[in-house]
Amino acid sequence: MRAEVQQVADGTYLVHGSNTNWVILTEGDSATLVDTGYPGDRELVLDSLAQVGSSPEAVAAVLITHAHNDHLGSAEYLRAAHGTPIYLHEAEVPHARRDFLHQVSVGEVLKNGWRPGVLPWAVHAIRSGGTAKVPVSAPEPFPASGALDLPGRPVPVHTPGHTLGHSAFHLPEAGVLISGDALVSGHPTSRTRGPQLLPDMFHHERGRAVASLDVLEGLAGDVLLPGHGPVHRGSVRRAAQRARELAV
Ligand SMILES: [Zn+2]
Ligand SMILES: [Zn+2]
Repeated sequence: MRAEVQQVADGTYLVHGSNTNWVILTEGDSATLVDTGYPGDRELVLDSLAQVGSSPEAVAAVLITHAHNDHLGSAEYLRAAHGTPIYLHEAEVPHARRDFLHQVSVGEVLKNGWRPGVLPWAVHAIRSGGTAKVPVSAPEPFPASGALDLPGRPVPVHTPGHTLGHSAFHLPEAGVLISGDALVSGHPTSRTRGPQLLPDMFHHERGRAVASLDVLEGLAGDVLLPGHGPVHRGSVRRAAQRARELAV
């Protein structure tokens, strides 16, 4: 299976997995992997690393925007097989260990089953391991505040709401924002295109997700790499404003 890899800037790649995106940041022989798709996306993760001239051994760290199954899927595999550290916001660490699970339930999805796109999405999600148990056994909080000493020099930006410890990653020099599920550009269950919040059922605390758009609005950049949907080129500030307008 071939992953769809798109170079968006020097050493910056957006990968479209089966339904979720991840990002690879390369610098020399080393790489940072941001998110890892569904458990069923593992071959695509490995293929995407190969396509950018990297490998699982060369990944210095895995950064996770948030511990939903469609982003956490191969994190424990990489940690166990290669000793790769898995970093998240400290509020997301227990979520990655599955001390608790704040993820839309099958019952909640079925209640929304009348909405366009929800049932096909749910079938794919379940087939790809969306309800599998994929805890990370030793997730770690970010090792520093501010820019991390990793390829791409990503700066974690706490954006709670979708989950309590959701983190976006800002690349100030490249003008890129990796927004995870705090701000997306599309989803199989949404008929809207362009910058938006995910449908309500996916957020742990929707009000806080809306408030976190203020945080993203303050970040300089003109390339948005979301957890779902295509790359969005244009002001990050404007993208966050647009999502807020739609959310009201
Ligand atoms: Zn999510
Ligand atoms: Zn997601």
